[in-house]
Amino acid sequence: MRGNQSFVILLVMKLLKNLFSKPLSTQLKVTSSNGFHLRPVARFTTLAKSFSCDVTASFDGNTVDAKKVNALLSLSLDKNDSFTVTTRGKEAQKALTALQTLFEMLMQDDVEVTTITKEHTHYEGETLEGDIITKGVAIAPASVYKTETLQHENSLAFKDAMQQTIKTLEETYSAQKESNNADIYLAQKELLSALAEKCDSLEDLEILIEKESSKLQGTTLSAKITDYQDVLQQVKTALGLEVKILFPEENFILLADDLLPSEIALLSSTQVQGVVLKETSINSHTAILLRASGIPSLIADTSQIPLSSDIILDSVAGVVVLHPSSDDMQKAKVSQEQNKKDKAHSASKRFESAQTTQGKTIKVYANVGDVLSAKVAKEEGAEGIGLLRSEFLFKSVKPTLETQTKAYTEIFNTFEDVTVRTLDVGGDKALPYINIPLEDNPFLGVRGVRLFRTHPEILAEQLHAIFIAAQGRKVKVMFPMVSTVEEFNKAKIFAQEVAQEHNVDISHIEFGIMIEVPSVLFLLQTLNKVVDFYSIGTNDLTQYLFATERTHPSLKIDETSSVVFDAITHILNHATKPVSICGELASNTEAIEKLIHLGLTTLSVNPKSIAQTKETIRYV
Ligand code: PEP
Ligand code: MG
Repeated sequence: MRGNQSFVILLVMKLLKNLFSKPLSTQLKVTSSNGFHLRPVARFTTLAKSFSCDVTASFDGNTVDAKKVNALLSLSLDKNDSFTVTTRGKEAQKALTALQTLFEMLMQDDVEVTTITKEHTHYEGETLEGDIITKGVAIAPASVYKTETLQHENSLAFKDAMQQTIKTLEETYSAQKESNNADIYLAQKELLSALAEKCDSLEDLEILIEKESSKLQGTTLSAKITDYQDVLQQVKTALGLEVKILFPEENFILLADDLLPSEIALLSSTQVQGVVLKETSINSHTAILLRASGIPSLIADTSQIPLSSDIILDSVAGVVVLHPSSDDMQKAKVSQEQNKKDKAHSASKRFESAQTTQGKTIKVYANVGDVLSAKVAKEEGAEGIGLLRSEFLFKSVKPTLETQTKAYTEIFNTFEDVTVRTLDVGGDKALPYINIPLEDNPFLGVRGVRLFRTHPEILAEQLHAIFIAAQGRKVKVMFPMVSTVEEFNKAKIFAQEVAQEHNVDISHIEFGIMIEVPSVLFLLQTLNKVVDFYSIGTNDLTQYLFATERTHPSLKIDETSSVVFDAITHILNHATKPVSICGELASNTEAIEKLIHLGLTTLSVNPKSIAQTKETIRYV
């Protein structure tokens, strides 16, 4: 009883504290054509929930709790809408900065697929037009989606089944965090968590989903209905009520009104050659996952498709050939072969080195944040790691020396040439286990290499882990945000002392700096004598050159301004140690040619931009 009382008192105190503390606000503008939809909203609320302060969002006279997916979605924020985010209470400033940063990133990354262009092919047989989800050609008989329901023995109570499903979605999200589709699972987890608060039985859940779905019918958020059906099905499965899809044993083209996102994964173990869906949309979660699976797929009126003999699904031309002639069949087979060849060609080319038309080789490295993204980078054709943003390795709890060592070892095993940046916390990046006192101008405060002074024990442990993992390898250690020669010297001496204390040989380790603070441009002559390498971080360099915060919601800087190129020219003219570039500018297709002409020979870009960057280089 007493325990309960103190809990209530604590809760009331927290509420009062939040209520009477000064609220902080910022305006955020939706810039994505998709609006602020389920997936980014789920990311936003997940981050908001990690702070104990209140977070609200206001738009058009309505204010809602920004920690709740459905509440935030109810604001129906579309492209160009500006809304206000307000934080109040403990860590309000930190929460506001973090949410603002995330929002900017979500808007930038939210690429809309409008229509996929069709390449016309003439067929003799009657054709049915559709909208392309994934390009490809398939020849097989059509088969209609059929299911059977199986009741397995079940020992889980409803609440436990809900929790288990939420946990599974969370695990799937964590496991796929680096893939473009992971947010789908986070969004479903958030939807189900919101429903879990209001339901005590499967019947409650079904009624609630029915109610929520009918509200969504005909709105811009109607694609969410499929996600509701999907989470309902997953809870039912956890309760032993499995809906099993019956797939033919031979090759087939699947016809369905729609598929649940979770059903796409099942297709990979069947003989499916193609998919035609009647009711989905090109940006639904189902369509996104179908695209990721690479299965040729189309949105078309499935009721017109005959079931008896082979049909052609040509989702390059955007048609289904209902009664193909033998010439049509021949044509489709040729096109199928050509598609396979094209895919194989571009896939194999990403592992080839990139040479300009003059025969100059440009190395394309990757910027990564953890072990998984390093593996993705390898798969995408990266030739090394130009920037390991170590602050993203352990985002929630302080890692032990062993966990850190393990992560660095795995990454060093993946690539021969790796540049690890020591923790770059501060400014727009926060870690829950590194406490930086509130600052009026965090971007001009304790950031990057300045942490050596404020948090020496954390840096000492990080360097120790890197040194153990490096074990005789030629690893490069890079200090971020260096603004004076003294800062570099002190950080290097500190690293040498760590090595001495633990008796590790670091003679094979190189030490360099990011060039992202303008003062460095005027210190190069002295720095040349002490550093082993430089990497230009244009993201920060640009913000400091123009005194414009990189995460500012309305102020925009032109990253391709001549000022930035002049700064790079100056660096290349004065540096006598190797210089590479790892800011976003390195993958900007309009900038690559200039960067190469200025003399850069190593570009480090995000893993998904590697193939494209290599291809662009080949035309320089
Ligand atoms: C940069 O500033 O350009 C850079 C690559 O570092 P980050 O984006 O991590 O600050
Ligand atoms: Mg930077």
